[in-house]
Amino acid sequence: MSNCAIVGINWGDEGKGRMVDLLTEDYDVVVRFQGGGNAGHTVINEKGKFALHLLPSGIFRDGTVNILGNGVALDLENLWKEIETVTAQGVAITPDNLKISDRASLLLPWHRDLDGLEEARLADKKFGSTKQGIAPFYSDKYQKKTILAGELFYPEHLKEHAKDLMEWKNLTLTGVYGAKPYTLDQIMSWLEEYGSKLKPFICDTGDFLEQANAEGKKILFEAQLGALRDLDYGIHPMTTSSNTLAAFAPVGSGFPAAKLDRIVGVVKAYSSCVGEGPFTCEWFGEEAEELRKAGGEYGAKTGRPRRVGPIDIVATRYGVEKQAATEIALTKLDVMNYMDQIPICEKYIVNGEETDKFPFPVLLADAKPVFKYMPGWKTDISGIRKFEDLPKEAQDYVLYVEKAIGCHISYVSVGAEREAIIIR
Ligand code: GDP
Ligand code: MG
Repeated sequence: MSNCAIVGINWGDEGKGRMVDLLTEDYDVVVRFQGGGNAGHTVINEKGKFALHLLPSGIFRDGTVNILGNGVALDLENLWKEIETVTAQGVAITPDNLKISDRASLLLPWHRDLDGLEEARLADKKFGSTKQGIAPFYSDKYQKKTILAGELFYPEHLKEHAKDLMEWKNLTLTGVYGAKPYTLDQIMSWLEEYGSKLKPFICDTGDFLEQANAEGKKILFEAQLGALRDLDYGIHPMTTSSNTLAAFAPVGSGFPAAKLDRIVGVVKAYSSCVGEGPFTCEWFGEEAEELRKAGGEYGAKTGRPRRVGPIDIVATRYGVEKQAATEIALTKLDVMNYMDQIPICEKYIVNGEETDKFPFPVLLADAKPVFKYMPGWKTDISGIRKFEDLPKEAQDYVLYVEKAIGCHISYVSVGAEREAIIIR
């Protein structure tokens, strides 16, 4: 199989980074096609433990080329800091193994400011933004009010363009929010400082991908967040500002003609959700605390406790359909070792009626979960590498989920380390 996308089926943090790190062995190129440095992918391998934000999770494999496509929110400052951190941990990052699309738009310092200012204005109606500037960035991109990475190579043009954008942006900063305006010196010195460091990585990644494809190289597309946070198909308006679906991967990569042969949907054996928004299967109180602790559910980017609950079959089936997943990786099954019985959110009650169809976003606010339980296995399964060796209760749970969501589970992950995987 040549090309593959690894995508989230739920609200994010399903363990995509972990699966990309595992599967990159079979791929030559790894591409991030959307989102920005608000991602948190934790990867544990022989080189150490890493929290990746914008860098593709293929960065640890020798010989793998990693690409930031035109669809990402390119924050030069934070990317540079991330490169420095990962490099300090002993991973070589050079223009040979990292390439940045010249068509990626730059996330500018004022996008981060505006994110914080708007969250403050919203007060108790806030979105739970990570304040990385992602929403203001994508709004500006669609208004064509951003700078492309490739413009860094044309200094005269860059200065003119930056000046125009700054004048426009200062109207919002000062007029709407009463914040301080930017000066041209400020913005140019930021562009100069981080642009000069990252320019060697910027190129036409479309050309590179097309050629790689023509040479029979295999391309892996890595998503950020999950189907339920997709701008068009997610839990609007509590989504992210880009498209997290596999169908968008070719467009955001620089190689719109790319064909996806495999789409691996990553599903967690229970649910978690960072930030605000409807989360029907949510647990509260002690039950939630116990699961949160067992799963280490604290954000890789923010350290925020994640909201948790049982697996949500209604939302997961919807995510599988929207991602057009051809197979599933079920992660963190080992986290449920401690449970006497395994909880499942099987259906919702919407407007007093049971349903297994994922509702229109407005209806989610009042949707209630219907839980069912299966017997637990109550043993440590983290050392198991064959499906047949799992306790019968664990096998039954995997088979139940597979049937309920209608997609083959080909990987069962039982630990955070690269090798803690069962392949079916
Ligand atoms: P991503 O954003 O989808 O890449 O996922 P995150 O990295 O944010 O969250 C997944 C977390 O679970 C990370 O801390 C991983 O190290 C960890 N993890 C992944 N798979 C497993 C697993 O099978 N078992 C356990 N116990 N932890 C896992
Ligand atoms: Mg994450």
